[in-house]
Amino acid sequence: MSFASLGLSAAILKAVEKQGYDTPSAIQAQAIPAVLEGKDVMAAAQTGTGKTAGFTLPLLELLSKGQRAQRGQVRALVLTPTRELAAQVAESVSTYGANLPLKSAVVFGGVSINPQIAALRNGVDVLVATPGRLLDLCQQKVLSFSQLEVLILDEADRMLDMGFIRDIKKILAMLPKQRQNLMFSATFSDEIRELAKGLVNNPVEISVTPRNATANTVDQAVYAIDKSRKAKILTKLIKENDWHQVLVFSRTKHGANRLAKNLEADGIKAVAIHGNKSQSARTKALADFKAGTAQVMVATDIAARGIDIDQLPFVVNFDLPNVPEDYVHRIGRTGRAGASGQAVSLVSDEEVKLLHDIERLIKRVIERKQIAGYEACHTLPEPNLNRAGGHNSNHKKPNPNRRKHASQNNNDNSARPESRHSARQNSRADASANSTAAKKPQRRRQGNNSANSAASGSVNPYANARPKSRD
Ligand code: AMP
Repeated sequence: MSFASLGLSAAILKAVEKQGYDTPSAIQAQAIPAVLEGKDVMAAAQTGTGKTAGFTLPLLELLSKGQRAQRGQVRALVLTPTRELAAQVAESVSTYGANLPLKSAVVFGGVSINPQIAALRNGVDVLVATPGRLLDLCQQKVLSFSQLEVLILDEADRMLDMGFIRDIKKILAMLPKQRQNLMFSATFSDEIRELAKGLVNNPVEISVTPRNATANTVDQAVYAIDKSRKAKILTKLIKENDWHQVLVFSRTKHGANRLAKNLEADGIKAVAIHGNKSQSARTKALADFKAGTAQVMVATDIAARGIDIDQLPFVVNFDLPNVPEDYVHRIGRTGRAGASGQAVSLVSDEEVKLLHDIERLIKRVIERKQIAGYEACHTLPEPNLNRAGGHNSNHKKPNPNRRKHASQNNNDNSARPESRHSARQNSRADASANSTAAKKPQRRRQGNNSANSAASGSVNPYANARPKSRD
């Protein structure tokens, strides 16, 4: 199947071709025709399936056929849970719409609101937004949704996890009843179906990834390792295998900082990204990582959510996630769109039960590996996907850190919902840092800056804040 056979016009096909895509992914093959027919869509698709192009391409096609946005109006609204995802979706809109006379903008908290207000005044065809900042802008009466044609909820499951339900309901109440609705979610949980009831009408349901499955293109391995030696084995793995573009997950913000420092001390250029970092620091870390200046990016789950990096080859779980579903999200960062990837997990004595829960969830036994000289004092249990619990009876020595570790639940507060309150706080706090605040993450594959060219009609209030050396 080709993109041309899906009913997209030459201007869009040209942009798709420029990205080097020749075949639509499964979600694209199903979603594009449905959206073009004007149907509501409810799609279960994880990051990495090509879902962004799955909704962006037909959206742009539909919008390009209608009347341009009028002053203060928004024709299509894409809601995302995180700032990073908002920036990346907006980048896709600009990239795929480079040959169309459509205007797009992105708004999220943590940066000054004024450039966003200016960008919206004349109206935009596509607005990508996080809920909190969008509500702030609505309160300032900058926007009108009276001519809204399409609403897209991206990563709806994560929006609910992050407590956005009230904000979403407030936003829905402002939209015209007649509109097309597209909802994307990693899973169709009961809550998602409940939300969908009040949102989509007679939707086409698409599911491209079985619930909690991990892609076959990802090689998964676990190393049993004493907690105190995790940093050393990570350095060894990276250096000896010459790994580049390694995304490392840390359960805590402090852990992420500490590990990035350790890696630097071992001569590996590393950056950390988490909720205690300012938006500009996060954006810079991501840009350095994408550009390859930083070999490793250490991230917490929430901060990493939605990070879209083409063919990320290595993911390391320095700590296993507390919630097994997060393992699936984490390793979904690699092995995307058919590319192969490697996911390595370092499992300490205290994490054996977490490993067991993960294996039961993904219904798969992960390969056990060892490195001579780095054997742990504990062994991993024989895999058993059926047995509930996963108590490890193989401890060879008591672990003095056990209690300390168990009580350590320093969750990443970058998950803070972009509530109106926090958005206001952020906008105040970051007002002075605005000149560097929202440099858009760069796509590595694109050597140029066509995604944001004036010719594409894209309105990016931060376009001028981007460092010249990257253009
Ligand atoms: P997404 O699931 O939207 O986050 O997309 C995952 C990655 O797949 C992104 O890096 C896209 O650039 C890439 N991608 C999307 N569609 C295709 C395609 N048809 N062929 C190859 N790569 C694609």
